[in-house]
Amino acid sequence: MPSWDIQSDVVIIGFGAAGACAALEAAQAGAGVVVLDRFTGGGATALSGGVVYAGGGTAQQWAAGVRDTAEAMLGYLRAEAGDVVPERTLREFCDGSVAMLEWLESHGVPFEGSLCPDKTSYPTNRHYLYYSGSEVSFRDVAPPAPRGHRARGRGTSGKVLYRQLKTAVQDKAECGLVLGRAGEQSVRVIGQTAAVALVTEGGRVTGVECRSLRGAPWWARGAHRALHRLGRKPYLYVPKLGRIAHRPVAWLERRHARPLLVGASRGVVIAAGGFGADRRMLRERAPAARGTLPLVTAGDDGSGIRLGAGAGGAVAHLDRVSVWRFLTPPPALLRGVLVDGDGKRICDESRYGAAVGDAILACGGRAWLLADRVTIEQARREVPGSTLWFQRLQAWYLLRPGRVSAGTVAAVAAKAGVDPDGLAATLAAYNAAASDPLGKPDELLRPQDQPPFSLIDVSIRPRLLHPAPVLTLGGLVVDPDTGQVLRADGSVVPGLFAAGRSAVGLCSRSYVSGLSRADCVFSGRRAGRHAAGRS
Ligand SMILES: Cc1cc2nc3c(=O)[nH]c(=O)nc-3n(C[C@H](O)[C@H](O)[C@H](O)COP(=O)(O)OP(=O)(O)OC[C@H]3O[C@@H](n4cnc5c(N)ncnc54)[C@H](O)[C@@H]3O)c2cc1C
Repeated sequence: MPSWDIQSDVVIIGFGAAGACAALEAAQAGAGVVVLDRFTGGGATALSGGVVYAGGGTAQQWAAGVRDTAEAMLGYLRAEAGDVVPERTLREFCDGSVAMLEWLESHGVPFEGSLCPDKTSYPTNRHYLYYSGSEVSFRDVAPPAPRGHRARGRGTSGKVLYRQLKTAVQDKAECGLVLGRAGEQSVRVIGQTAAVALVTEGGRVTGVECRSLRGAPWWARGAHRALHRLGRKPYLYVPKLGRIAHRPVAWLERRHARPLLVGASRGVVIAAGGFGADRRMLRERAPAARGTLPLVTAGDDGSGIRLGAGAGGAVAHLDRVSVWRFLTPPPALLRGVLVDGDGKRICDESRYGAAVGDAILACGGRAWLLADRVTIEQARREVPGSTLWFQRLQAWYLLRPGRVSAGTVAAVAAKAGVDPDGLAATLAAYNAAASDPLGKPDELLRPQDQPPFSLIDVSIRPRLLHPAPVLTLGGLVVDPDTGQVLRADGSVVPGLFAAGRSAVGLCSRSYVSGLSRADCVFSGRRAGRHAAGRS
């Protein structure tokens, strides 16, 4: 048996949403828990929009006068998720959705039933409940309802969601250490400690080999913490700059980190995020992500997925990425007509940005939105009231440098390099239709027939002013009932669990806003509970 430096019942790799939820649940089930994080925790969760996909009659939906059922939610998610998880898992998720949101609230995460009146990519600080997917476009499949529950807080409120989960975990640490509450064990969070290998004994995962800055000089730990924090936003918005800023962080780890062996008598949970920061892995495994902007932190380097695969775990859906191309805000632009280089219509413009991104990629990545004078004028008026700061940049791009206009459809097509005959035919059919064959809701249909006409370039390619963000969706294959990592033959890797974006989950086929976070909570809790039970 290895001589462990630290021993616990459950060890969790990664302290983002999935790791925090796993820790809370494992401690609740009576296990002692150690959480390891390469940095100081938070991961992509803390930088995100803080939207949680939930429905079936949450308190916030009721407060907003929205009627929703678990059955309707299931009907819609079945259409999005396909068979990426078994039907019973999807049903369990939908049936438990109200309780899941209440559980988050019980840990201090605030939500609010203020319904956003428009279709948007992310609501402003006045609204915290919105249509965060393509529910209305799927109205023939299931009754639509707004299910994007954004944690209440200004700007991108993932920081609020993470802060509350972190506080709840810290409270558990105090309960266990100071109060010794019966039946509930302590959680210990060890930051600046990277998992580099899994320890197995007799085929069972029994611990984690780490490189830790725990014993490093104070200045090295301080510099590591400060430089990582400073580099997170550049890493997200200007990746080249972020990678340069990250170099001294990686150097401090190489120079000062020391080995640390952490034993797990019941189980190890991998909750170390996705692989969008590993450019090589992204290139090889997810070619569709070419030319996009990975929404990641330096921690999303695929190390968690590799650790699990190294222990025999199977991986799946690594090629599935969610590439976002939002046409709104401003909401008026949803009245426009999305076409490819031949002038052919691409999809229902009101679908969620990831579905629009998929459709654009499917026709080669080049796309334009046609809008007439009335639509552009309305869009301009809407900008101030419908955007947060990061959306203002997008709106400015769409209405200014990304747009060409001309007095006739043929002239604007020539300016943009779109086939004029194809565009004229598409527009004639669109303007004449009483209802949309592609499913756009009637209230968004208005003939685009008032000159001048504009074509807005919404192609997917590397662009500083109008990037196409991307999330990785695949990961380790897990047992849908327990979260245990599975081998290719379907047998379990004993002692090993995975959750969040390190694992295949509810959103691994098709992401809508909030579904990744909801899956982190769902799969994190599942893994924590079962790891504590020594499956
Ligand atoms: C800007 C932005 C907006 C987003 N908006 C939304 C949204 O509104 N709704 C939604 O559902 N999703 C959203 N997402 C996606 C969502 O945030 C992530 O998919 C989700 O938070 C992933 O959570 P996680 O717990 O799996 O990983 P993370 O939150 O990334 O946590 C993983 C942790 O593991 C640590 N780690 C990594 N490797 C190791 C290792 N080897 N050893 C130790 N620690 C390690 C990392 O430091 C990190 O703290 C957004 C993402 C971004 C960046």
